[in-house]
Amino acid sequence: MSAKSALELIKLTKRYGDTVAVEAIDQTIPNGTYACLLGPSGCGKSSTLRMIAGHETVSSGDILQNSLNITDLPPARRGTAMMFQSYALFPHLSVVDNVAFSLKMKGVDKKTRQAEARQLLELVDMAPYGDRLPTQLSGGQQQRVALARALITKPSILLLDEPLSALDPFLRIRMRTELKRLQRELGISFIHVTHSQDEALALADHIIVMNGGRIEQDGPPQTVFDAPRTEFVARFIGGHNILGETHGKMAVRTDRMSILQDQPEGQAMPATVRAVEYLGTMVNVTVEAPDAGELTVSVGDTAFFAKPVEIGQSVFLKWKPEHAHSLAA
Ligand code: ADP
Ligand code: MG
Repeated sequence: MSAKSALELIKLTKRYGDTVAVEAIDQTIPNGTYACLLGPSGCGKSSTLRMIAGHETVSSGDILQNSLNITDLPPARRGTAMMFQSYALFPHLSVVDNVAFSLKMKGVDKKTRQAEARQLLELVDMAPYGDRLPTQLSGGQQQRVALARALITKPSILLLDEPLSALDPFLRIRMRTELKRLQRELGISFIHVTHSQDEALALADHIIVMNGGRIEQDGPPQTVFDAPRTEFVARFIGGHNILGETHGKMAVRTDRMSILQDQPEGQAMPATVRAVEYLGTMVNVTVEAPDAGELTVSVGDTAFFAKPVEIGQSVFLKWKPEHAHSLAA
């Protein structure tokens, strides 16, 4: 990976008075990456994003872009753009004028800036709506306009803070696909803040899991999901059971455990069924095991069971040793 073509965070730190919001994080994001900053509320995602954008001062550490130190540059000189939530559209300006706004600020003439704005509206599938006011658009359409408005400055990095959280679930998935398509088409980096593991897994080339102002784990989504490094990551990313309170903890994916109704040969963990949840393409069975507490087993097909699984039933859990990942303390 060439440091010349990347965003680099070096010991980046943000303090608000006594609160350390971001604690000396190191991270390299190659150009053209879809990166997701993932973590629970308050873990420092937005502070990190705002420092990258230049909307927040850096307490200590550095931000390099293509080897250039941009830590103290004003936002407009960084090659980054922030996609704000839809409510940040100017209500009194037409869609075209909203998108063209930053070009107007730069003194670009009306004809040129409106032509460019219309091109971007085309890119986000909003060409027919240029002359409307923001209030005449649906939430999803406003998001697209906000996206076009951020992209008109031709950033090399687009920063998005929880861009999908205000949308209903159906639209969220549509916009998600759209964001991925746009990032691929434009070939620029997107840095997308989210607390949704599904969103991060679906979108990212590179996931950065944050907890308490630090990076717990980073890497390709598949690696983070398959081999969570810590209990926090395993629990946060979901889809894992945590085992072994006494002799070091392990994570086993919920779909790598089998649930058997009759006692099998060899070792198996006895458990009692506490809940059965049908989720369309799979069934989640929650069981309670004497040594491990509540565990979930995801089964692809109910036809797998010889007889229906019932609450209170005694069952046995098995998994292959190679599917158990040790967790760092
Ligand atoms: P996230 O986006 O992951 O929810 P934030 O970066 O917004 O997290 O916040 C990280 C921590 O910093 C939190 O404890 C939050 O309360 C604190 N914080 C964020 N912004 C400010 C601010 N402007 N002043 C004081 N504390 C702040
Ligand atoms: Mg936030």
